[in-house]
Amino acid sequence: MLCPYCGENRDKVVDSRGAQEGQTIRRRRECLACGKRFTTREHLEFSAQTQVVKRDGSRVPYDRQRMIEGLAKACYKRPVSTESIEKLVDQVEEEALATHEREIHSIDLGRAIAERLKALDQIAYVRFASVYKQFRDLDDILDEVRDVLASAASDPPEQGRLF
Ligand SMILES: [Zn+2]
Repeated sequence: MLCPYCGENRDKVVDSRGAQEGQTIRRRRECLACGKRFTTREHLEFSAQTQVVKRDGSRVPYDRQRMIEGLAKACYKRPVSTESIEKLVDQVEEEALATHEREIHSIDLGRAIAERLKALDQIAYVRFASVYKQFRDLDDILDEVRDVLASAASDPPEQGRLF
C-alpha cells in the first residue's frame, strides 16, 4: 500500500482485524520508510487490484467512488443514507473479493448491486434495474440511472425478466 504520508510503497502489517460490521478487514500498517502508521481496509485493496470487464471485453479499473456516486443517483430523494450505500458497496466488494478473482464482469457487478438494492429500497432498485436492462454495462447504468425514473417507478418490471 502507498503510505499516505510519504508515498512509499513498503510497509509492514502491525495489526489486522475485522471491523465490527460485516467482514471488512482493517489493517494497521507501518511505513518502512518514514515509520508512520496508517490504516487500510480491504475495499481499498479491492479497488487497487480489481479490473472490471465490460461487455465489449475491454477492462477498466474498478472505481469505488463511481459506484457510490451512481448508487446515490439511483437513491435520489429516497430515504437511503450514504452510509447504507457505502455498506452495500462494501458487501458487493467483499463478495467479489471472496472469489479471489482479479477481474469481475460488469454484468455480474450490476447484478450483485441490483440484488442488494432490492432489499434496501424498492424504488431505487427499479430505477437501477430499468437502466440495467437497457444498457447492461455498469458504466452506462451509473451514468444514466437517475433519469429513468418516475415513470419506471410506477411500472415495475416483472421479476425474473430483469436479467
Ligand atoms: Zn511513509
